[in-house]
Amino acid sequence: MLATTLIVAALLGSPFTPRAVVPVTSPSLSVTATPAVFNPQATSRAAATTVVIVSTETGTIRVDVTNDDGLLVANLLAETPVVAGSSTSLSWDGGGVADGTYGIQVTLVDPLGATRQSLTPVVVDASSPLLTQSAPKPSLTERGPIAVALTSQDASGLVSATLIVENQIGTKLGRVAVPVDPDGRGGALSWNLRLRKRLLLPGVYHLRVSGVDGAGNVGESDLRTIRVDRGVRNSVIYSLRDAGSVIGLAFDDCVSEQAWLSIIRAFKKAKAHTTFFCNGVNVRSNPTAARAALAAGNTIGSHTWSHPQMPTLASSAQASQIQGDKDIWWQVAKASPMPFFRPPYGLHNATTDAVAGAEGFAYSVLWDVDPSDYLDPPPSVLVDKVTSHARPGSIVVMHVNANTASAVPALIAALRRNGLEPQSLEEMLGVAAYLAPRSN
Ligand SMILES: [Zn+2]
Repeated sequence: MLATTLIVAALLGSPFTPRAVVPVTSPSLSVTATPAVFNPQATSRAAATTVVIVSTETGTIRVDVTNDDGLLVANLLAETPVVAGSSTSLSWDGGGVADGTYGIQVTLVDPLGATRQSLTPVVVDASSPLLTQSAPKPSLTERGPIAVALTSQDASGLVSATLIVENQIGTKLGRVAVPVDPDGRGGALSWNLRLRKRLLLPGVYHLRVSGVDGAGNVGESDLRTIRVDRGVRNSVIYSLRDAGSVIGLAFDDCVSEQAWLSIIRAFKKAKAHTTFFCNGVNVRSNPTAARAALAAGNTIGSHTWSHPQMPTLASSAQASQIQGDKDIWWQVAKASPMPFFRPPYGLHNATTDAVAGAEGFAYSVLWDVDPSDYLDPPPSVLVDKVTSHARPGSIVVMHVNANTASAVPALIAALRRNGLEPQSLEEMLGVAAYLAPRSN
């Protein structure tokens, strides 16, 4: 009895043991089913179980499948003569039964009419585990740890689980193993916010849990959102020369919702992404475009609440300018402009850089190409101004206005002809954009 239970657990490859069907063994009659968990609809894994019966007595055997109430579900073998020491092998494909635990029940009747029975449990599991991730606690943190917990509903139980960490637009940043409870019904992790041994930078992140059950079915939970916020070291960047043959077009202010939507559409059509540095007042006025920018996979950054000349303001006023922008992105789109900040007019002093860092912005993003698009040059002139100054890794300052928006398709095409692929800041920096330096 104990030995059989251990064998079942070993066959399952997990600590999970079927509960409803209790194995029965007779000294003269053994039955095994391999694998003990299978998916009738599987293509790559076992889609049936192989049943092997060994009898040390002569007689007739029949093999039935019972459900967890002990009721007959199927007959696999009608009364068949066996001789002592023989082995009988057959297969069950779980046809027509629901997910659950079943018993393969063998009955031997010897020549004197005495009956022996053996039974081994088998789990049929054609369904992905249904995973529910509870809200991470706390949902707002500086450095963690945060408690991640999941529950699973599944016929064969959860064998392994992984926390998938994405940024706010769904880019996968890394994975962390979630220890699974011995009963296979859930798991929990106290996560220290580290991926690849590096701490997550401030920002909004999405967490989802992926799990594999005993039959190899994979399930995924809905996503949960966490916010990370703390002071970091701020770096001022003008270009990203190591990024390769790419260019970061970035559009500021976001005053016109029509122009903003037009730019979003142009990048979508070109299968490219860009970056928007919007003022909080405009995010508040244009929530549809704000959400559309994120939904299309573009990067957002802060451009302050109301576009002041930051160096003219006291430290506290500079901080509230940045805080206002953080708050409105959260209110409008459950999103964060961190880790990217662009000071209005490119004007910043030591106080601005310190305040940006204290507010969680690792990067103050200036530019090395300025086509003066605010002067509304004809589109061809605007395109020439950018292409003639652009180099690999350049960052360009432009604005969300109708004239610039009308030039975007031609600009993307011209840059590509010159061998420069437009990318968002997130794409240019890669996963590193969201992970603190190892020293942090
Ligand atoms: Zn601006």
